[in-house]
Amino acid sequence: MKRALVCGAGGFIAGHLVKRLKKEGFWVRGVDIKAHEYCTSAADEFLVLDLREPQSCLKALTLSGAKFDHVYQLAADMGGMGFIHTAETEIMHNSVLINVHMTHLAAELRIPRYFFSSSVCVYRDMQPGEPEMTEAQAVPANPDNEYGWEKLYSERMALAYERHSGMQVRIARFQNVYGPEGTWHGGREKAPAAMCRKVTEISDGGTIEVWGDGTAVRSYTYVEDMVDGVRRLMESDLHGAVNIGCPQYVTVNELVAAVSEVAKKKVKIKYIDGPVGVQSRNFSNERIYSLGWKPQFQLSDGVARTYPWVEAQVKANKTGK
Ligand code: NAD
Repeated sequence: MKRALVCGAGGFIAGHLVKRLKKEGFWVRGVDIKAHEYCTSAADEFLVLDLREPQSCLKALTLSGAKFDHVYQLAADMGGMGFIHTAETEIMHNSVLINVHMTHLAAELRIPRYFFSSSVCVYRDMQPGEPEMTEAQAVPANPDNEYGWEKLYSERMALAYERHSGMQVRIARFQNVYGPEGTWHGGREKAPAAMCRKVTEISDGGTIEVWGDGTAVRSYTYVEDMVDGVRRLMESDLHGAVNIGCPQYVTVNELVAAVSEVAKKKVKIKYIDGPVGVQSRNFSNERIYSLGWKPQFQLSDGVARTYPWVEAQVKANKTGK
């Protein structure tokens, strides 16, 4: 039986990754600074550890009498644009510490395969209509935010350890990921969960507030598709960073329209000032396509699965359940 360590398993994507690894027959240890807020972890063992501390990373990586076959490093101080633009020092401090210790100790312990979750925030801003950017075009670098710079540094560190140790490193640059069991309120939520929550809270014909003018272009990837990409990448020989994202690019207005259709509510939008982030995105998926990956969920399918979950959270929160 293969053994996997999943860091950040108390969070959204890693929580789903643990479920997938269990389905595939792995023995899984999950680690996070907190328990999962929305479900009981599917991991065989769950350790609450602060991975900014090297001794916690060592504890996470150590198995008595055996070794992990795979380490998935998804722990990060993480949130949507509002969080990314206000918590710059926390992100650069906390996430770098996690990655410095995890990468170094995993290489020292001769872990065979190490996965790092990066982001398309490593790329510069784009204008609508620009041709696709490939992974190599992340440099010369000009990320829009400090979160992107931290990811770029941590990618390079992981690749340096790969060159100087026997550890195989796999790096995915995720586009926006959404789905059930992700943060939906409190300031760290990302746009799809925030839009679902806002639409849940209004009656038919009501108004929601949206940062910016609604024209910013993004791609949203349903969490099961993303986890499938991670697993394919981890089993492959693809070196270097790999973009993973649904090729369906939509404006924020189109995201709201998708939510309003699922909710069966007419929604008016009030545009307000806020941290919108970059204007446009368009990335090549050729590398992940070469592994046979294809998203199974269009935005409408994914929202149809996400909205009812967020709606249930909002209702449970109101009734104090
Ligand atoms: P998340 O916030 O739900 O999960 C991250 C987890 O890391 C959280 O549970 C958090 O408690 C944990 N963590 C933070 N600090 C820790 C510490 N010191 N020790 C141990 N655990 C700690 O976020 P997510 O959306 O599931 O993101 C997972 C990974 O994917 C992150 O690395 C993130 O940067 C990356 N990513 C996510 C998206 C997205 O759209 N969600 C897009 C691009 C990249």
